Amino acid sequence: MSYGVVWFKRDLRLHDHAALCAAALEGPLLCLYIIEPSLWQQPDASSQHYHFVLECLQDLDDALARRGGQLLVRVGEACAVLEELYRAAPFAGLYSHEETGNGHTFQRDKDVALWCQRRAVRWREFPQTGVIRRLSSRDGWAERWERFVAQPCLPVPPLRGRPLPLPLQPWPSAAALGVFPFDPPARQCGGRRRAIVVLRSFIEQRSTDYRGGISSPLSAPTACSRLSPYLATGCLSLREVLQATLRRLDCLPEQNSRQRQGLQAFISRLHWHCHFMQKLESEPDIEYCNMHRGYDGLRENEMDASRLAILMEGRTGWPMVDACVAMLNHTGWLNFRMRAMLVSVAAYPLWLHWRPVGLWLARAFLDYEPGIHWSQLQMQSGTTGINATRVYNPVKQALDHDPQGRFVRHWLPALRQVPDTWLFEPWKMPPALRERYNLHENVYPAQPPVELDSATRVAKQRLHGLRKQAAVKAGKAAIVTRHASRQQSLGSVTPTRADAAARQLDLFA
Ligand SMILES: Cc1cc2nc3c(=O)[nH]c(=O)nc-3n(C[C@H](O)[C@H](O)[C@H](O)COP(=O)(O)OP(=O)(O)OC[C@H]3O[C@@H](n4cnc5c(N)ncnc54)[C@H](O)[C@@H]3O)c2cc1C
Repeated sequence: MSYGVVWFKRDLRLHDHAALCAAALEGPLLCLYIIEPSLWQQPDASSQHYHFVLECLQDLDDALARRGGQLLVRVGEACAVLEELYRAAPFAGLYSHEETGNGHTFQRDKDVALWCQRRAVRWREFPQTGVIRRLSSRDGWAERWERFVAQPCLPVPPLRGRPLPLPLQPWPSAAALGVFPFDPPARQCGGRRRAIVVLRSFIEQRSTDYRGGISSPLSAPTACSRLSPYLATGCLSLREVLQATLRRLDCLPEQNSRQRQGLQAFISRLHWHCHFMQKLESEPDIEYCNMHRGYDGLRENEMDASRLAILMEGRTGWPMVDACVAMLNHTGWLNFRMRAMLVSVAAYPLWLHWRPVGLWLARAFLDYEPGIHWSQLQMQSGTTGINATRVYNPVKQALDHDPQGRFVRHWLPALRQVPDTWLFEPWKMPPALRERYNLHENVYPAQPPVELDSATRVAKQRLHGLRKQAAVKAGKAAIVTRHASRQQSLGSVTPTRADAAARQLDLFA
């Protein structure tokens, strides 16, 4: 008897799973996850991503077992595994969610489509976010997003399993797969059960601190939702998170304006999630090339590898930057503002191209989501052609978001005794004081690699010089048509003052 194969990718849940529901309607099904060695060997992957996914798979398998089912995990390249499965027990349909992944998964999906054609297997793909395939223009995108997220979440369907046609295989270690070894000791753990605990604690309590709490790296770890890795691996669907938030808003008394505002601002972020992913979906090349090709050649040929190395090691000599790198290495997470600051420092004073910086951060961020990541990297580096230049001065960021130096002192023990006067600019300390606080070069850099203000000024001048050129100006219109937001409001979902402010600040572009 024929059956359908549900191919789990970045949708590691049973709830609100369109592909699973469609397969269940047709008859018996088999749930498959493929551990693809070539995918895990890509330069944007690290062992924290792999271990997190394994935790999610364990949880998914448990959820299936509770319904009398089982997850088949196979190791191999996608087409080879599908062929092996087909030979063991031919199947008529393949069901999955659409994936807006990196270039590797884009090519892999094209190969899988060809394989399906050859074997006359019908491959049905379903959207799982508000991202739209084959979108010709951004006109009307926000309205379509609203319609998508307003649809009811799909319950787990009754599952008719079938015996596994192939044996289970042991899950290889990250080292055996050749995954880049980076797994921070305090990263979040994977799986839907954990995701639900995090979601509940946020919408019920922590969201009270969202407005006003998300910019400082001191308050952000608890004030932010911390849902990003669960959204990136699909332990939770974006729609269910949004609807749970709206339900909570419905129950909150009007006078609880602080939490209400927090939840509304959070909903705006869920909109951005898809808005940014849509850019990569519509133009997969932005993973590798400048969104505005008029900026080609700006930084590529001047890459100073030693500057990238000190940034990655957290030894720039700018304490706020180095403290963020230390936190990232320990937790796999940073809040938005500190991510933006790291990229700004890389792109302007250090004059580094966004691609190698982005690969390092992709491995370092547990929540790596290619569509958001590469769009943000380009936006913060000034190569989209449609966004205002954003430059985050690390000394100002420290003064604004860590005025007492608690964050810097926590993550940089070498600077703990340094008085406030010098803490954010230790290179200005008189040598005798450096000596007194034991700040030798091997403990903490005596000087940053460049003088911050002048290097930033020169970088901005170069970028703006290019921006003024007629050919570069001419290229802007096409990018606006393809990628910029047309959003006037979030309609029935969240018409908030925060959105209006965000639009003024050009955050939606
Ligand atoms: C250079 C750079 C790279 C980034 N790379 C990623 C990435 O790979 N994966 C990722 O999920 N986010 C990325 N972000 C966006 C943002 O920093 C993270 O989503 C956020 O810090 C995750 O923590 P949270 O879930 O607690 O955020 P919350 O503030 O609670 O936000 C909730 C959700 O909204 C979405 N979101 C929030 N901010 C943004 C934003 N600015 N753009 C798009 N979506 C957003 C995310 O899905 C997030 O999980 C990046 C930002 C920058 C500046």
